Formats: sequence, C-alpha cells, structure tokens
Amino acid sequence: MAGGIPGREARRRALVFPLPFQGHIDPMMHLAGALHARGLAVTVLHTRFNALRPARHPEFRFVEVPDGVPADVAAAGRIIDVILAMNAAMEASPAGVRAALASAMLAGGEEEQEAERRPRGAAACLFIDGNLLAVQRVAAALGLPTLVLRTGSAACLRCFLAYPMLHEKGFLPPQESNLYTPVPELPPLRVKDLFFSPVSNHEKVREVLARITETVRNSSGVVINTSEALEAAEMEQLRGELAGDGLPLLLAAGPLHKLSSRSAGSSLLDQDRSCIAWLDTRPPGSVLYASFGSLAAMDPGEFLEVAWGLADSGHPFLWVVRPKLVRGCDSVQLPDGFEDAVKGRGMVIRWAPQQEVLAHRAVGGFWTHGGWNSTLEGVGEGVPMICRPDAVDQMMNARYVQDVWGVGFELEGELERGRIRDAVRRLMEGEEGAEMRERAKVLRRKVADCLESSGSSQIAMDKLVSYILSL
Ligand code: UDP
Repeated sequence: MAGGIPGREARRRALVFPLPFQGHIDPMMHLAGALHARGLAVTVLHTRFNALRPARHPEFRFVEVPDGVPADVAAAGRIIDVILAMNAAMEASPAGVRAALASAMLAGGEEEQEAERRPRGAAACLFIDGNLLAVQRVAAALGLPTLVLRTGSAACLRCFLAYPMLHEKGFLPPQESNLYTPVPELPPLRVKDLFFSPVSNHEKVREVLARITETVRNSSGVVINTSEALEAAEMEQLRGELAGDGLPLLLAAGPLHKLSSRSAGSSLLDQDRSCIAWLDTRPPGSVLYASFGSLAAMDPGEFLEVAWGLADSGHPFLWVVRPKLVRGCDSVQLPDGFEDAVKGRGMVIRWAPQQEVLAHRAVGGFWTHGGWNSTLEGVGEGVPMICRPDAVDQMMNARYVQDVWGVGFELEGELERGRIRDAVRRLMEGEEGAEMRERAKVLRRKVADCLESSGSSQIAMDKLVSYILSL
C-alpha cells in the first residue's frame, strides 16, 4: 500500500456515497480506505436503508442522507426497485439531499480547517455509485465535482453503454432462440451473457442503465474496480468509447479490497468467524467454499439439491446460507439428515469473512454466483471457481472466468444433486481442476503485480489522488 502524501494538500477531503447494497458498499469503502491511507480525509454519505455503522469506522466522518425509499420497497429489498425509488424520491424533493451534501462539504472539522487554513467547504469531490444520478444532479448544483465508482467490471460498463446499440441491432430483448448468438461488438459475450434475461423487466432495466450512462458521461472521471491484468482490452475499448465525453480520468484501480481492508467494518450482516478456526484444522486446498453473495436466491427445491450435491461430493465444504437465500424463507432450514450426513466434513454459516476465507490455505475451490466482488476476491487469492450466475452482470463474469481467464467453469442448466456432485469433483480433483488451479495462481500473480508500487493499479491511484488535490 502506498504511503500517505505529506503536506497541506494531503488533508483535502473526499466524500463517498455508495449505493446501499453489500456489493456496492464494500468497494466504495475500500476506495475510501485507500484514499484515507494516502492522506485524504473522507466523509461517508449513507442512507437509513441498509445503514452503515459509523462506530466501526472511526477514521471517517458520516452524514446520513434521507433516501425516501418506501417501507414496502425497503422490506422487499429488490435492488432495481430500491434504485428507482431512491432516485425518484430524491428528484421529487432534493432539499434533503442538498442539505446533507452541503453539510458533508462543510464537515471538515475545526482542527483540520485550521491546519489547512482553508475556509469551510474544503471537500474536493464526491465519489458516487453510478446508480445515484439524482445525487449527482444535486452535487452539480452545489458546484461539487463527482467521480463515479463502477463496482462492476469494465466489460460490464461497456455493456451498459452499448445498451441502445444492442436494442437497435436486435440482440435485445433476448429471445430463447438467440441466447447463444455471439455479440461481435462485445467479445467474448453471447446474448445470454448480457445483463438481461428473458424474464427481466426491460422498462426498469432500460431506465436504470440510461441513468448509469448519464451519470458516467456527466462525471469528472470514472474509477473501475478492475485490473489491467484482467481487462486491459476492455479498458482500452472504454477509453475509445468515452473519449468524446472529455472524461479526464478513466482508471482501473482494483481490486480495491487489496488496497485497503475494511470488509468486516462495512458488512451488513455479522461475520461468523468460527469458520476460520474450523478451516485451520483442514488440510491445504481441501475445502470448497460455497457462497452466493448478498442477493442471489434459489427455490426451495434447488436449495435441497445444493445441500445434497455438496454432501454427495465427498469433499469438505464451507457453505454460506444467509437469510433469504431461499425464496420466500426469511430463515432457512437445512434438510433433515443433512447435518448428520456431513458431520465433521461440512460447515454451514450465516455469513462469512469472505476475503479471509478465500485467502485461507485450506480453501481449494470457490462455488460462487459470480458477483464481481466475489469474482475479484477469488481471482485475487488464486482460487479456481464454479460459477452459477443468477442475474445482472454475473453471466458475463462467468464467461470471463471460464473462457477468458480459464480459472473455472460455469455450472449451467438445472441445479440437480448429481450434476453438483460432479461439478465439485471436477473442480477439486483431477487434471482439469489442477490446470484451472495453476492458471488461477498465475492470474493472481499478475493481479498482484498491478498492486505493486509501480503497478498499474497503484499508478491509477496516484493519478486519482493527484487529480483530487488539483481540484
Ligand atoms: N460476502 C461476505 N460474506 C459472505 C458472502 C459475501 O462478506 O458470506 C461479501 C463478499 O466478500 C463480497 C460481497 O459480499 O464482497 C458480495 O458482493 P458480490 O459483488 O460478489 O455479489 P452481490 O452480493 O452484489 O450479488
């Protein structure tokens, strides 16, 4: 990690405002940590919905922003509905956001301001999630520049920007008949790998993506949580595609969790650390870690198949069964007889310290839904993966894991215990799994090189900090 930048400028303040979902909060808080490590002061804006816990981050200031998410939308917790409701509420009555932003811009603290001899209002810029167009509009009216943190891949942002073209050319909406048609403009993706499914609500998707595109194009810069080691070509293409917008910055500065570690602090669920002691007792590379992120869900029948597939694989496993993993169930029950069947070999927990688990020497494979953070975390530790994508960008992430990096494979089709057993064995045993593991180790080293002091991600962070200090 680079050291802090000394001097008066080092106390400039950055504001950060994550979208309040785990997969968006984590990278923003990692970015905040990385900026703080380089000498910047940070204020975190957060909503009451999925509120952060300020006491866990004494190094940051916190300001709450009224989110206006109706109680029923908050209770259902569907990300697309929360994004649309939050933007609509903030656009209908921007006064609350304006007051919160104005207060955050001023929240430098007397001591700091005296040290800097700066007037109140020392915030240099605001980092926002790409889904927060309504916040960007208020910031613009206050004269505060915004930078966008993209919490997905560069390939994913290319897809978002290409949305109108994908419609014009008839790739979207997807039909059952064209799911395996390649999209030549976005190799190696096929229609099936785009962030839609035949059951998506296309009007909502259209609105959300149009907003992200506008937020990106209106921003002073975009930081993508990716690495040149993973997506050099995609970054290059994006630079070409966004060149006309005159963006001063388009940076691959990830994986951000490797630049700062704040996962426990920003976790919305309490992490069960007992699994680390359990992993300590297992031989190196023996355990499959299975986790499907913070939002993916399955039907009760699929859940049974996953349980028995893991049991039948014969391999040790650590499985995260979080509340609401099974559709329609707030608290999930394991099937009768399961615990006896896997005694001493399987551990089930509600929520894991995932980055620590993946870094543990006992973990030899990762069954993931393929959220971008999970993908980066698996890649960052050189752990080969089984991908079972559920929604949004997870299908394209699986394509990269399997066909671009060769560090895992997608488990397609019906979730059935025999197919799951075979997939686990394919990853954990035999030649093919060993090859994926070898490639995963090579990729980990390439990603780690980008994080060295002269590596591309550190250079990107240097550019970012210099830019902030120039504002
Ligand atoms: N995560 C965790 N503990 C768990 C499962 C997930 O801390 O038991 C974290 C994981 O490390 C990742 C985030 O939750 O940073 C999930 O983000 P991702 O983009 O992978 O998926 P999403 O939840 O957005 O679908």
